[in-house]
Amino acid sequence: MNAFEKPHVVAVPFPALGHFIPFLDLAKLLASNGLTVSYVTTPANVSRLQGYLVQALNDGLDIRLVALPTPPVEGLQGCESNDLLPPESRNLIFDLAKKLQNPFDIWMEQQFHQQTAAPPVCIVYDMFMGWAVDTAQKFNIPSILFNTCGAFAISLLHSISCSILQNTLEKDGEDSLVLSFNMPRPVRLFKHEVSPAYFNPDLSSSIQRFVRQCHQEIGKCSGILINTFNELEPLFVQHLKTLTGKPVWAIGPVHPQNLSSGAGNVNTRGKMADIDEQELVCWLDLHSARSVVYVSFGSFTALSEEQTHALARGLEASEQPFVWTIKVTPKIESASSESETDHISTYLPEGFLERTKGRGLIIRGWAPQLVILSHLSVGAFISHCGWNSALESISLGVPILAWPMFGDQHFNSKLFAELGAGIQFCQNRDEIPKEESIKKAVTMALTGDKREEMRENAEKLKVMATNAVKVEGSSATDLRAFVSEMHKLNTRPSKEKEETESNS
Ligand code: UDP
Repeated sequence: MNAFEKPHVVAVPFPALGHFIPFLDLAKLLASNGLTVSYVTTPANVSRLQGYLVQALNDGLDIRLVALPTPPVEGLQGCESNDLLPPESRNLIFDLAKKLQNPFDIWMEQQFHQQTAAPPVCIVYDMFMGWAVDTAQKFNIPSILFNTCGAFAISLLHSISCSILQNTLEKDGEDSLVLSFNMPRPVRLFKHEVSPAYFNPDLSSSIQRFVRQCHQEIGKCSGILINTFNELEPLFVQHLKTLTGKPVWAIGPVHPQNLSSGAGNVNTRGKMADIDEQELVCWLDLHSARSVVYVSFGSFTALSEEQTHALARGLEASEQPFVWTIKVTPKIESASSESETDHISTYLPEGFLERTKGRGLIIRGWAPQLVILSHLSVGAFISHCGWNSALESISLGVPILAWPMFGDQHFNSKLFAELGAGIQFCQNRDEIPKEESIKKAVTMALTGDKREEMRENAEKLKVMATNAVKVEGSSATDLRAFVSEMHKLNTRPSKEKEETESNS
């Protein structure tokens, strides 16, 4: 088959690592199933992300990183991804995302007149790049939403957004509410688990209104790809099908599961790891099976000085081995250079590093997370429960000790607690965890009574995830069904093709 016979899919991620990474994994999956994938973002992001694709490109996968010209956004100063910005400037990334529509439309136009790949058959877009639906309509091709969070979370976010719009949010006392509108079963939530902006539409910023709108509009697309597996949340995968009336392909986990075969260099996944992989693995090898707790809060969340201090005290008190990835809040003036300052040590209790020497490994900056989670010595993950991290953890059999902070993280934490593979020990962005609750959570997961039960439940989920991506598994079957749709579309005339043909 030559390149022109391959269906050409265009992927449009939101400019944040928690979105770039699953889109890169998706691009690899689609390309290894015979599709051409154009992965469209901005120049600085192309430079940062291309390392993770080197192996895939050497293996002959047809993935094209496309750098659209960066539209000017006041205040961004060269930062093109949310992890490079301090919290107060992160909303600017939504402005950048919106402004990419125009250069994207121009690039799309060119795709129907160039000779190096077949014209696109569809756009696979991120929830926060909703304008891609209009672009797809313009070119008479389908728009497929790639949902980078889970089916349970997206069902809840949709229900909350719609309930607020229709004023039907059911309060359950002062502190909690019950979500039943457009839900397959009622779910009780504490108020702190839902972003405050949802409760006060007058005060919410345009970005928060925009995010709410994205959740309301999940049915605008032609179909949904979702980074989950059916067995994990069957009720909610089915619910999305019923709710939208569109095809829903649950194809996850999309991350490379078998690191020993063809995963490529996972220490460049997202960013170049700030630790030598060999050194890390040697350190992990020194510890017995399931004895180490891994601590990380995703690609951009940095703890405050007080929170870092509290966590350090809890880890020390637990007396268990740990690997802790510490991030610092970027400063806008140094953000584009990605400098990680070394004032982390000053956040830690005096003498902490010396006292935990040998028992604790600190990674300043970026960790090769999949390498850590797939190592046999890792027995628990202190995580903010971002969907990628949570899915990676349970699909590698590691129970989660959750400290959800915002967005969908509380919902993910709830899901894994319901499945018996996680517990929550702290809640919210601003909370300072108690030393005792950290110690209790860590010892419980690594040495305590609940250890076997949590491990068994996580192990069951791992087996389910592994089976889902095997040839006859649910995710592999959905992936084949999606690829087959793309082949059908490749033979269907687009509006541009129709016009060219009728003009000639
Ligand atoms: N990640 C990583 N190393 C780090 C921090 C994060 O590889 O030091 C990866 C992690 O494996 C996951 C992604 O970055 O794939 C983070 O996504 P998630 O949804 O967990 O959280 P977010 O960053 O969006 O809050």
